[in-house]
Amino acid sequence: MMKSVVCSEPGSLLIQDVARPVDKPGQVIVKIKRIGICGTDIHAFGGNQPFFQYPRVLGHELSGEIESVGEGVQLSPGQDVYIVPYMSCGNCIACHRGKTNCCTDIQVLGVHVDGGMCEYLQVPEQYVITTKGMDLDQLAVVECLAIGAHAVRRAKLAAGSTVLVVGAGPIGMGIMQFAKEAGAKVFVMDMNQERLAFCKEKLGADQIIQVGPQAREQIATLTDGDFIDTVFDATGNPKAMEAGFQLVAHGGSYVLVSVVKADISFSDPEFHKREMTLLGSRNATREDFEHVVNCLDKGSVKANVMITHRGKLLDLPKLLPSWCKAESGVIKAVVEV
Ligand SMILES: [Zn+2]
Ligand SMILES: [Zn+2]
Repeated sequence: MMKSVVCSEPGSLLIQDVARPVDKPGQVIVKIKRIGICGTDIHAFGGNQPFFQYPRVLGHELSGEIESVGEGVQLSPGQDVYIVPYMSCGNCIACHRGKTNCCTDIQVLGVHVDGGMCEYLQVPEQYVITTKGMDLDQLAVVECLAIGAHAVRRAKLAAGSTVLVVGAGPIGMGIMQFAKEAGAKVFVMDMNQERLAFCKEKLGADQIIQVGPQAREQIATLTDGDFIDTVFDATGNPKAMEAGFQLVAHGGSYVLVSVVKADISFSDPEFHKREMTLLGSRNATREDFEHVVNCLDKGSVKANVMITHRGKLLDLPKLLPSWCKAESGVIKAVVEV
């Protein structure tokens, strides 16, 4: 048997004893060591994640060690790994185009199927990625950073171009860091002064902008009236998503990384006169995960500074509710198993 923490219904986490997985062909059993806590976990726990079914074992930002492997698997027990939590079908139009991140039948660990808030998790071999010499904490944050890496790759930033990241949560902080890595000049906008100061001091943001009536004017001044080559939205807020259209330069792009349960509208003349490129960005592919690990390895992107809170698996029923509160100041929490 093993311990597992299940979200039985919104607002409730229970510790359960469940059967340990047994080896199957093509599958790997990972002894989970670290779990990053993500907005998705918090929304699912709070009951406001779209298309979510309970009960569900949460947790998709996972690192650990290979415990055992099934028949035909090339990996070996004892290796440190992280898990790519997006299981794709391999047969749909998106998968055929290599866009496994937006597979029509995507199954995300901890969302559509049970995730990693447990001691041992069985995963098909192709989603278990081995690494050497990276600490388990960083590996647990790779998925969160991969979302930002993917959005930045979608945007094809030109070196020296301007980027505005709206929303300085963990996803926004990832976007920011990969935009810097790509050579862009990065502005960050948020309501939270502390977060903005953190982005400037710890993550190298070039300019920080407080949300408010003055923000658009401030951006105009900072860019000599040009506005921003590429705006990324990571707010999860429909009003902010709509306001972002007004911040894009003529010829520029707008990348929506957030997903909200709402319709988004914009002025067509404003959109058209800019010949704006509008992009959605969803999840990440293995290529993005590998880019994140390379950047962490050479130190051009930082994960550990984003980890502000820690706890133990069996304390999650009391810790997760406290981490959901804004006043907790959580940027990234990591759970040790
Ligand atoms: Zn996540
Ligand atoms: Zn597919």
